[in-house]
Amino acid sequence: MTEPTVITGIRPGLHVHGLDRGETPTADYLCGSCGAHKRVTGRTEVAAFTATNPATDHAQRCNPEPAPAAG
Ligand SMILES: [Zn+2]
Repeated sequence: MTEPTVITGIRPGLHVHGLDRGETPTADYLCGSCGAHKRVTGRTEVAAFTATNPATDHAQRCNPEPAPAAG
């Protein structure tokens, strides 16, 4: 298989990367409802970020743009 990797962006939810030794941890949270995106980098920041349960935290503030009403 020689298909190139297609990067379509981050999927909704919380994703943590770079946990291997020597890497800088990165956490992304993407809201599937309103599209809000937050990224934190650094082991301490990622740990604190995930500890706050971003999905629950964001759900309290999530305010998706309503579909434009006709008129
Ligand atoms: Zn949202």
